[in-house]
Amino acid sequence: MKIAIVGAGVSGLSCALECERLGVVPDIYERDSSIGWIWPSVIFWPGVFTKEQAEIRNYLLNKFNIDVRPLSKTKSFIMKSANQEVKVEGKLGYFLARGKAENSFVKQMQKDIMRTRIQYNVPADYKELAKEYDYVVVSSGKVDEALDLGVWESLGTVYMMGGVALGNFDKTSSTVFFNTDYAGTGYARITPFNSYQAIVGIYTIGKEEYEVDKLFKKFLEMENLNHLDFIYKLTPPSFQLGRVRKFQVDNVFLAGRAAGLTERLLGVGGPEAIMSGVYAARSVIQGEDYTKLMKPLKKHVENVSAFRDIVNKFENKDFDRMLSVLGTPGVKQAIYNTNMNFVDAIGKVLKFFNK
Ligand SMILES: Cc1cc2nc3c(=O)[nH]c(=O)nc-3n(C[C@H](O)[C@H](O)[C@H](O)COP(=O)(O)OP(=O)(O)OC[C@H]3O[C@@H](n4cnc5c(N)ncnc54)[C@H](O)[C@@H]3O)c2cc1C
Repeated sequence: MKIAIVGAGVSGLSCALECERLGVVPDIYERDSSIGWIWPSVIFWPGVFTKEQAEIRNYLLNKFNIDVRPLSKTKSFIMKSANQEVKVEGKLGYFLARGKAENSFVKQMQKDIMRTRIQYNVPADYKELAKEYDYVVVSSGKVDEALDLGVWESLGTVYMMGGVALGNFDKTSSTVFFNTDYAGTGYARITPFNSYQAIVGIYTIGKEEYEVDKLFKKFLEMENLNHLDFIYKLTPPSFQLGRVRKFQVDNVFLAGRAAGLTERLLGVGGPEAIMSGVYAARSVIQGEDYTKLMKPLKKHVENVSAFRDIVNKFENKDFDRMLSVLGTPGVKQAIYNTNMNFVDAIGKVLKFFNK
C-alpha cells in the first residue's frame, strides 16, 4: 500500500507514526528544509477544552500512542478585559513548544519515527500525489486543498502579530486579553517559553490586515507592555477560520487544520491534529470509516466554535460582563476545578440557538 502525507507537522507526523505501527511505511513531503514551524512559538492546550478526555496527555498516549512532552503545566490563567480581571488557578492544561528547537513537540515526535521517508524542500501537489499513491493524507496546516476540493466553508479570518519578548514571566501562567480596541473580537495573549521569554501576540478578528501593526502597538501601550524587549517579531500569514463539509474526497484524506479541526473561539487545534492524523492512518490501512472516526472531533470543534458566533457580536462591555460572570467563585470552581465538561455542554446548547 502506498501512502503519501503532505506536510510534516502535527497531524502528518502522527499519521506517519500510526502508519508505521500498522506496518506500512509512508512517504512524507515537507515544503520546508526541516521539521517545525519556521517561527518559534508556544501553544496552549487549555484543560477546559479537553475535559472529555479527562487528562489529555494520558489519553493521547493510551489511545493514540503519542507521547506529548510539554514545556510546562499551566497552573494559572489570567483573563483581562477593558475593566475586569479574573485569575483562575489549578490544573489548567499545558504549554507546548513549537518551532525548530529540540524541545518543540513535533521535533519530539520526529524522534519516534523509524522508517518513514521524509522528503524536504518539496512543496507537494496533492492532486499529483493522488495519481501516484493509493492514498494521500493532506496535513498541510492550510485550507488550500479543501478549498480546491470544494469542501471548505470559510467563517472568518484571523490576522496575527506578535513575537518573542524578553521580560519576567511566570512560566506556568498565561494571560489572555479581550479588548475590541486592538483585537476586535479576537484576543491577545502572553504565553511563556520560560521565566524570561514569552510569545506576546494579538490574534485579531474583524479587523483589516493593514491595521495589524498599529493594533499591536496599541495593545502593548494599553496593557502597559511597552517595556518588553522583542528579540523576534512575527506576522504569520493570515489564517482562515472555517470547517470542511467532507473529510475525505476519493483517495484524499484531510487531517488537522486542513480538515478545519481548529476551533474558532481561541484557535486551539493541537490535540485534534494528533487524533485526526492517527485516524487517517487507521482508515486507510485498516479500512475504518474516516467520517465516523472524525465525528466526535468535529462535534467538539463545533461546540467550542458555537461560542464564537456569540463573541463576534461582543463589545467591550460584553467582555467585561463575561469576565464578571466567569469570576464568580461558584462558576470558576465549576468550570475549572471539576470534571464537568462545561464547554461542550454549553456549546451544544448554543449551537442549537445559533441555528
Ligand atoms: C499562530 C497560531 C497559534 C496557534 N495556537 C494554538 C494553541 O495555543 N493551541 C493549540 O492547540 N493550537 C494552536 N494553533 C493551532 C495548531 O497549531 C494547529 O491546530 C496544528 O498545528 C495543526 O497541525 P497540522 O498538522 O494541521 O499543521 P501544522 O502543524 O501547521 O503542519 C503543517 C506542515 O505542512 C507543511 N506544508 C504545508 N503545505 C505543504 C505542501 N504543499 N507540501 C509539503 N508540505 C507542506 C508545513 O510546512 C508544515 O510543516 C495555533 C495556530 C497558529 C497558526
